[in-house]
Amino acid sequence: MSRIASVLLPMPLPEAFDYAEPEGMGLEAGDQVAVPLGPRLIRGVVTELRDAMGGNRPLKPVAERLDDPRLPPGTVEFVQWAARYAVDAPGQPLAIALRGARAPKPRPVRVVVATGTSPARPTPAREKVIEAALQPMAAADLARAAGVSAGVVKALLDEGVLAVREILPEARFDPPDLSRPGPQLSASQAAAAEALKDLVADGFGVALLDGVTGSGKTEVYLEAAAAALAADPDAQVLILLPEIALTQAVIARVAARFGAQPGEWHSDVAPPGRRRVWEAVAAGTCRIVVGARSALFLPFRKLRLIVVDEEHDGSFKQEDGFIYHARDLAVVRGRIEGAAVILASATPSLETLRNAEAGRYRWLRLSARHGTARLPDIELIDLRETPPEAGRWLSPPLVKAMAETWARGEQSLLFLNRRGYAPLVLCKACGERMTAPDTDSWLVEHRYTGRLVCHLTGFSMPKPAACPHCGAKDSLVSIGPGVERVEEEARALFPEARIAVFSSDTVFDAREARRLVETMAAGEIDILVATQAAAKGHNFPKLTLVGVVDADLGLRGGDLRAAERTYQLLAQATGRAGRKDRPGRALLQTYAPEHAVMQALKAQDRDAFVAAEMAERELAGLPPFGRLAAVVASGPDAAQLDAFVQGMAQAAPNTPGVEVYGPADAPLGLVRGRRRKRFLVRADRSVDLSAYMAAWRARVRPPGQIRVAIDIDPYSFL
Ligand code: ADP
Repeated sequence: MSRIASVLLPMPLPEAFDYAEPEGMGLEAGDQVAVPLGPRLIRGVVTELRDAMGGNRPLKPVAERLDDPRLPPGTVEFVQWAARYAVDAPGQPLAIALRGARAPKPRPVRVVVATGTSPARPTPAREKVIEAALQPMAAADLARAAGVSAGVVKALLDEGVLAVREILPEARFDPPDLSRPGPQLSASQAAAAEALKDLVADGFGVALLDGVTGSGKTEVYLEAAAAALAADPDAQVLILLPEIALTQAVIARVAARFGAQPGEWHSDVAPPGRRRVWEAVAAGTCRIVVGARSALFLPFRKLRLIVVDEEHDGSFKQEDGFIYHARDLAVVRGRIEGAAVILASATPSLETLRNAEAGRYRWLRLSARHGTARLPDIELIDLRETPPEAGRWLSPPLVKAMAETWARGEQSLLFLNRRGYAPLVLCKACGERMTAPDTDSWLVEHRYTGRLVCHLTGFSMPKPAACPHCGAKDSLVSIGPGVERVEEEARALFPEARIAVFSSDTVFDAREARRLVETMAAGEIDILVATQAAAKGHNFPKLTLVGVVDADLGLRGGDLRAAERTYQLLAQATGRAGRKDRPGRALLQTYAPEHAVMQALKAQDRDAFVAAEMAERELAGLPPFGRLAAVVASGPDAAQLDAFVQGMAQAAPNTPGVEVYGPADAPLGLVRGRRRKRFLVRADRSVDLSAYMAAWRARVRPPGQIRVAIDIDPYSFL
């Protein structure tokens, strides 16, 4: 009997489409196929095969089974689960899962091989080259390996003793060397490592590895990884990190621990490299992957452990396109694959702490730094009492501390989570604030490039000489500091010091991030001015002073997680100070030293802060005690959008335990010419919020120009 194949396509379609399986094609679920869609052939994945019952309307046939790896059942199930949870089309997460499969194959490389012909005139140098050529490599590498000049290789090529061949770079990864010993663990580290090994042995289960900065969490979870890899020759391990700079540091540590490069997966890996990792993961030959959130969608064959390092980090939430939180989905993928999940952090999210408190996750704590290192002393600088001079941003106590640190030959880090030179440019003649066209967001001044940039939409323009509004000349003034401005001030104060800026404007790619981290770790920078890109996870042995330029920044305009996020970010940033045997200091500049977040940071009393924050959330039924979902409806026409959201409000299903707030103007009311309106939905934990949102969505028909985006468990309220 002929069969019908359900084929999921990597595009925003509501469901899989049915195609007829041509006679003898022998499809299996997970196969990648090409199918006709309108006039085109599209790559898709077979999710299901069933016998065709007679009498159906004729289906178009599958055009071809592609000669590409099959998606394992766990990957397909995960994609479908994620789509249902996010109330989105399954083709959206499938597109992420196929990103590596659709990338171009690596190009062939030219290597030199020995042909077997003997040289007419053998010399020791020539013999060496022929021996080295047993291992195919590029001509220049061969000359280097044999310790001869390029001329020797060229002469042998001319003579036909060597020949050039084009070969495809191998998709293989070196296997991890599991006989290498890890570091000698301290008693508390060893206890945590043992508990994690038990977790790994038990299949699915989640542990919170909760340890202060520098306590050795990475060393401990690498032991769990070693155990998972040793228990099964096919086992695979995934380590997720929130920043490219951190992936670089962890890749180096994995390579040192296991003597083999792990697969690297993030936006900066070139397409052929992605294809190589994707295929090796599907084949099971890449056994360790270190990557950013989308690595969670790779086609693992036998995933046995997922580590989410810095699990509290907001960068795990993907906000555009397919909206998901990689930490939450890691737990889902773990359950589907029967894999252990380790969530590691010095400042865990309230969601994770709640799960640990309730006994759903195992909770392992490391309360001291490794070895003789101590946590830094944290002091608050009250800017009302000791303000910086006019037009400056560093207060006298901070400048004094920097001078002392510099005199001792140690390093300072100035932390300010703001890119560019100044967050606002206004006209002192007419008061106009410079904003991006058709967007409610200030233009940020960047001095390195001399441009005003919208960080939301990417729009940029040269800084004008006159106010575009009133025409006044030289009237535009820069308000407030960004990292570039703090750098300018630091240079004026310490003209001899080696100063660098670490932000996404100065560090564009993984290589540059690695270079800057290495330079800092080697002590070749005296003052590093950094956004959060450098404030997390790194070990800088000579860094003894962290100055937080504006500790109140994250508390302004606060959303539900403002206090939690500020606490986490500042605890991470201050946690960079004082590694090895040098004690560290952290100074926080604030106008609100009495604020609960500042007091908790100063007292280093995370538990008290968390308890107070939890109590507030519980009272309000907010996460982790309740669930939230957001809806953003947007469209170019204000009246049409108004009418639509009014109708949408009326269509909201009436369900006990669910409250719908809105519609309201979004704080970012206008982006790229589109007006935006928001709803916020709060639900009790017992409610299936995804099902509720799907039911609501099904009741409304947005007109063509209106888009409706649903965000389950929102982190952005703009
Ligand atoms: P965390 O991930 O908790 O911030 P790390 O694992 O990065 O901590 O450890 C901090 C520093 O201490 C690193 O340089 C690490 O190599 C070192 N370290 C931690 N534990 C040990 C150990 N048992 N033996 C040797 N060095 C260790």
